Amino acid sequence: MHWMEQLTALGGVASRRQLLAAGATSDALTEAVRAGLLFRPRRGSYASLAASDAALEAARSGGRLCCVSAARSYGLWAGTDQRTHIRVARHATRLPYTLAVRHWMPAERPGREIWRDSIDDCLVSVVHCADEETAVAVLDTAISAGLTSLQAIGELFAGESVRARAVAAKARPGSDSGVESIVRQRLTKAGHLVEQQIGVAGVGRVDLRVDGRLYIEIDGYAWHSDRGAFERDRARDTGLAMYGFLRLRFPARDVLEHWPDVGRIIETVLAAPDVTGPRTGQPFVQPELADRTPKERARLRTPTRSSLATPRFRASGDQTMLSSR
Ligand SMILES: [Zn+2]
Repeated sequence: MHWMEQLTALGGVASRRQLLAAGATSDALTEAVRAGLLFRPRRGSYASLAASDAALEAARSGGRLCCVSAARSYGLWAGTDQRTHIRVARHATRLPYTLAVRHWMPAERPGREIWRDSIDDCLVSVVHCADEETAVAVLDTAISAGLTSLQAIGELFAGESVRARAVAAKARPGSDSGVESIVRQRLTKAGHLVEQQIGVAGVGRVDLRVDGRLYIEIDGYAWHSDRGAFERDRARDTGLAMYGFLRLRFPARDVLEHWPDVGRIIETVLAAPDVTGPRTGQPFVQPELADRTPKERARLRTPTRSSLATPRFRASGDQTMLSSR
């Protein structure tokens, strides 16, 4: 690999020593700087035009992106704190010139990239610095991204404080986005059973299922970015409606900015009479519609006063049973 490719592979910022080890020579580095291909954010380090602003800010300070800023650089949910969090050495002389948040603890598991924490150091610093909800969402999205696992998190936090271990223990797989994780955490805290990425026969995967009967989908900020995604969402909505499931869809922005309203809607729907709530993930078919096709069922299953009164369902473990009353 050419040393310039190696620089790109390292995120666009590398030490002089790393580039020399990758085959660069002093003359080649000098020439690349003169040609405008490289510049030196700090003595002993080089950056290419591919380096992100955050990486350069860290490199200029002689520190590393850590905490939520490192999480963001790994493509993870990083909460709403837009300040740059930088791990700086105790002897650092050129501190970041922005309103950066400084972490003074040295990196315990430094990776090859000189401009950001390893993923493990990043996750530990997030748990120590961010609020619990953000920290759990970062861990959740790191699991979904395949950057860690529940087992690895358990091992990583084994030697950390009681509080850090308690936060890490709340991480769960299944959150496609940080906002999904936040919804899970808030509803769990409110006493609900929340399952994620539930496969529903004939419908597909749904983001969340609450108390076994309410299906919730969260739209990301760019959820209508392509027509295919839009159509898949509509198909899921139609499928859930056809099978008679309770369902809600919220934009991520509403979850973050209008949670009291979102939470109230969810509680109101859950408090409604349980006429549709199969807990098995299998489409509920009213006995009188059992021999109809799905299309006919959809046409015939128009709620009436009597259908709201009966039948009643009662959950027992994973079984859904017709109650005898
Ligand atoms: Zn921080």
